[in-house]
Amino acid sequence: MMGTDSDHFQTVPLSESQSSFSGQPYSVSVLKAGYCVPQSDGTFRADGTITLITGPKTILVDTGGPWDRDFLLKSLKDKGLEPGDVNVVVGTHGHSDHVGNLTLFPSAVMIVGYDVSEGDTYRPNKLGDGHAFIIDEHVSVVPCPGHTGQDVSVRVKGTSAGTVLVAGDLFECCSDEDSWRDLSMNTAAQEVSRLEALRTADVIIPGHGLPFRVLRN
Ligand SMILES: [Zn+2]
Repeated sequence: MMGTDSDHFQTVPLSESQSSFSGQPYSVSVLKAGYCVPQSDGTFRADGTITLITGPKTILVDTGGPWDRDFLLKSLKDKGLEPGDVNVVVGTHGHSDHVGNLTLFPSAVMIVGYDVSEGDTYRPNKLGDGHAFIIDEHVSVVPCPGHTGQDVSVRVKGTSAGTVLVAGDLFECCSDEDSWRDLSMNTAAQEVSRLEALRTADVIIPGHGLPFRVLRN
């Protein structure tokens, strides 16, 4: 596997037991690693990765599909959290396997693609102009279009593993060179977004697989 990315970056897969990244002030943990499994009848079984960021604010990145409702409630409870404790919910893009449970969090700040809202109030922002939406000095939501027209990732600085990027479907999984283009609405834009992610993140949490580490040559 050789591509533009692999000329300058190496990616190293992490295991399920390496899917939590403690940090100050924010820690990141994967509640569910997404998957995408082709079936013999031509369909796919797929679910999006669900990630929880805890610290001064509690931030959920992607909610899985509607079928994940009970799993999500239990996973939060296991962390001592009720849905009302989640301050910010980010939907990395509007596909059903990523934003299937937004209704569990009616009082959270909601960032779905380039839309930022609180209740029925939509807040102007510059995501569409390529600018990050800053949550605080450690966490920001960054535009990364390509898979759809309005993808965002969440960048968390200062974990034990460095900068963690919760990337939605910007990356399908580690070593996804043979698969991401087929699912992309704009491969040129996504290539740019992917390179920027590989340049700036130490760990990437992809939309349909386990986290991976990025080594820059
Ligand atoms: Zn998607």
